[in-house]
Amino acid sequence: MNIEELKQRIFESGVVGAGGAGFPTNVKLNENADTIILNCAECEPLLRVDQQLMAIYTDEIISALSLIVETLKANVGIIAIKAKYKEALEAINNRISQYPFIKLHLLPDIYPSGDEVMMIYEATGKVVPRGSIPIVVGAIVLNTETVLNIYNAIIKQQPVTKKYVTITGEVNSPITVCVPIGTKIKELIKMAGGQRVDEIGIVMGGPMTGILVDEDTPITKTTKAILVLPKKHTIIQRKQATTVLNIKKVMSVCSQCRMCTDLCPRNLLGHNVEPHRLMNALANGLTIDSSAFLTALGCCSCGICEMFACHHELSPRSLMMDCKAKLMAKGLKQTVSENSRVNPQRDIRAVQTKRLIARLNLTQYNNIKAPISKKEIFVDSVEIPLKQHVGVPSISNVEEQQLVHAGDVIATVPDAALGAVIHASIDGKVEKVTQNSITIRARGGRE
Ligand code: SF4
Ligand code: SF4
Repeated sequence: MNIEELKQRIFESGVVGAGGAGFPTNVKLNENADTIILNCAECEPLLRVDQQLMAIYTDEIISALSLIVETLKANVGIIAIKAKYKEALEAINNRISQYPFIKLHLLPDIYPSGDEVMMIYEATGKVVPRGSIPIVVGAIVLNTETVLNIYNAIIKQQPVTKKYVTITGEVNSPITVCVPIGTKIKELIKMAGGQRVDEIGIVMGGPMTGILVDEDTPITKTTKAILVLPKKHTIIQRKQATTVLNIKKVMSVCSQCRMCTDLCPRNLLGHNVEPHRLMNALANGLTIDSSAFLTALGCCSCGICEMFACHHELSPRSLMMDCKAKLMAKGLKQTVSENSRVNPQRDIRAVQTKRLIARLNLTQYNNIKAPISKKEIFVDSVEIPLKQHVGVPSISNVEEQQLVHAGDVIATVPDAALGAVIHASIDGKVEKVTQNSITIRARGGRE
């Protein structure tokens, strides 16, 4: 297989980054890569999927990584994983000698070691220049589940129709399940034995970068976890704050201590991400120096500034992300700078995961294992979003009342646009097609 065939098969199978970003994987693959990094950091607290898949589907994942390395004619594939994922590590160590181009790199237990730029630095010692992309330093980073999806696409000719999701927190039986894409969160909570407190907030994703959702939200190709927390939990409260409230709080109490900037992982790698300067500009209405606003363009949204660094519980991350979205909507991009200088204090300023979990008030949920279920799961209906990836929304090619089988293409990408093909995730009848989603009811499912 050559690189074009590999990319085409991955595109046709609808593979996108399963770690949360959702970037179409075929677009990431590039013949200039010398290093392919398998990201098994799973650095967000309480997430379990990647370490569990690595322990179970070790051969599938390593063989797919090896195939990518060989097809791209790269020099090496690196499995980057934390030493604390003992089961996965044992499985890797038992097999890695069979793959001559694959090596292992143990990551420190710090957050956010799964961030692409941070991971490349940890695994290769190279810094992706500010405003640039990993391929300029010869690296491609792929999430563990993404590589399993590539294996399924190439070896088993199976498109992406299912997703592994961990349901944890205030549920009776935390669990990791493999469900059809488009399954509603309320179904997942039932699979985890139901909620165990009356009033809950639901986070889709990890506690740091996840978003608040309701129980009717469907899971997508990028959903790694559903966190069920008491409604009054700090994480739920913090995620409910509005931009106006966040700015008012900055105006009242930001002390310009700089801790948000001093602990920012991107800043520590030499990128000019300086949340304290944006906070100062917002608090004081300083618009004369636009560089304070442009600093937001390099923010990776990790949340260290907001959930760990700020002693006043202010929200630099949220404000950086608001500012970044507005600048990008106006077509502004980061300028590329080759002059990144890694801060010599980076190692001692790194945030240990255990401390982060304690700060987030999540220690009580951290020892929960959420075992992976091997049971095949059937659902009555799915609502499949047409935008589950970076790029333009996919366009439906099915009509209401049409019968479909799991794996049929139900939405395609407009010509030459960045996007991903979407497949039916269950056998059934198309019940509803809107601009945003396609609902399929299973044959024999409840009307
Ligand atoms: S850490 Fe908080 S108080 Fe300190 S500069 Fe940043 S936003 Fe202001
Ligand atoms: S969220 Fe905060 S800590 Fe993380 S990159 Fe952005 S500014 Fe830096």
